[in-house]
Amino acid sequence: MKFTDFNLKETIQAAVTEAGFTEPSPVQKDAIPLVLEGHDLIAQAQTGTGKTAAFGLPIMSMMKADGSVEGLVIVPTRELAMQVSDELFRFGKLSGLKTATVYGGTAYGKQIDRIKQASIVVATPGRLQDLLMSGKIKIKPNFVVLDEADEMLDMGFLDEIKNIFTFLPKERQTLMFSATMPNAIRKLAEQILKTPKTVSITKSEKTNTKITQLYYVVQERERDDALVRLIDYKNPEKCIIFCRMKKEVDRLVAHMTAQGFKVSGLHGDMEQKQREVTIRAFKQGGIDIFIATDVAARGLDVNDVTHVFNYHIPFDSESYVHRIGRTGRGGKTGEAITLVSPNELRTIKRIEKDVGAKLITQVIPTRIEVQNNRSDELIAKIAETKVTEKAIELVKTLQHDLDIVTIAHLLASMIQNENSVKGKDNIGLGLEEIDLLIERAMQNRGGGGGGRNRRRGGGGGYRGNRAGGGGGGRNRNGRNGRSSGGRDSRNGGGGRRD
Ligand code: ADP
Ligand code: MG
Repeated sequence: MKFTDFNLKETIQAAVTEAGFTEPSPVQKDAIPLVLEGHDLIAQAQTGTGKTAAFGLPIMSMMKADGSVEGLVIVPTRELAMQVSDELFRFGKLSGLKTATVYGGTAYGKQIDRIKQASIVVATPGRLQDLLMSGKIKIKPNFVVLDEADEMLDMGFLDEIKNIFTFLPKERQTLMFSATMPNAIRKLAEQILKTPKTVSITKSEKTNTKITQLYYVVQERERDDALVRLIDYKNPEKCIIFCRMKKEVDRLVAHMTAQGFKVSGLHGDMEQKQREVTIRAFKQGGIDIFIATDVAARGLDVNDVTHVFNYHIPFDSESYVHRIGRTGRGGKTGEAITLVSPNELRTIKRIEKDVGAKLITQVIPTRIEVQNNRSDELIAKIAETKVTEKAIELVKTLQHDLDIVTIAHLLASMIQNENSVKGKDNIGLGLEEIDLLIERAMQNRGGGGGGRNRRRGGGGGYRGNRAGGGGGGRNRNGRNGRSSGGRDSRNGGGGRRD
């Protein structure tokens, strides 16, 4: 299926082509025809699946560009308002459809001027309610979209939303998008939608299959070391580290900076200007690592995030889904990595059940393993490097006093010192320990009885699950002809597979 099959307005189709979209995503395939037919819609799809285009393209295709506000999109946060607005602007610019972005914390004047010229208003609930109640704006949009509805309710915007709808025309097409469908969302839908059609991307597709989900078991005090080791090992192009609290964000920013990483924090208390500057730096690559709270990172759409780290496992499955959805966007692959302490293993099992996916447990690589990895990369890099005139001069000078082999040894040592991996040799728990802990956690939950049988059954299940992770580790060692040395737990884990 192609975008051209939808019969969108010519100028909209041209913008889609220009954006480089060829194949519609699953939610786009299902939603766009229904919206074009004029139905109200309730759509459930995971973050990063192209919901903006799923509602934006069809409604813009039906707009007249007559100078009035024809569409209203309500989103939970300022960042999201800006992102959605940018994306809609891109689709609408060839059709003469302007967008206005409306959010709190800035002056009213400019926003009101922009609204007067816009065909589409993208707004956060608080400021929009202000503008409507004070009579500063009067709009009669025939298309109304609630984007990331579950997050808006989580953030406590239910009353604002209900109130906003009292100012909107009764004759309208209403679309609701949400990553999850808790009861509160269904109830709201009953109140604001008219005989809606439903689109739901099925459970197995709920967590994006392009995201590999891993977890590592560490002791509480090992979290910082584990994080640094994993970043050293994975070498992410761009990553987001999620924390539960703002305090933790600040502490980790200091810690990671001291370790020489290019990091920046993002949390709710930052000033708008500062947030924008930070997000731009992250997008453009000046910052490689973002350390954020859930709220601050809501809806954040940064392409090319290769890894998401959960410094702590989030309390609920929905946050987990939202967090890991920051990677694997626009059809790319991504990795989601969660650090858990032994008593959080049950939370992992619950999340697996809720999201309908298996999380793979792995052992944190040893210092030696990471070091060896780097040496391999270094060898490859040396082989690829072009010889410069200056280098030839330098070696000539050195040759006055030293023989060529000594020079090579000295230069290699210099590079290797810069490249050395710091930290403890071993961090975190081995596979056998993790296995036992999982068994124990599940037994406790089941409430005793038939211990031995349960154990056999449970063990089998996890063994299958773990094989992928353990196997990966062993292959790595095997290929490089190195053993991890003294990691009984891993050897035990691997051996059991045979
Ligand atoms: P969601 O709202 O579901 O989280 P977005 O609408 O923000 O997802 O889309 C995520 C990213 O994927 C954006 O960068 C968007 O431009 C891109 N995208 C959306 N649809 C397509 C498509 N059909 N082909 C290629 N890229 C797409
Ligand atoms: Mg979105």
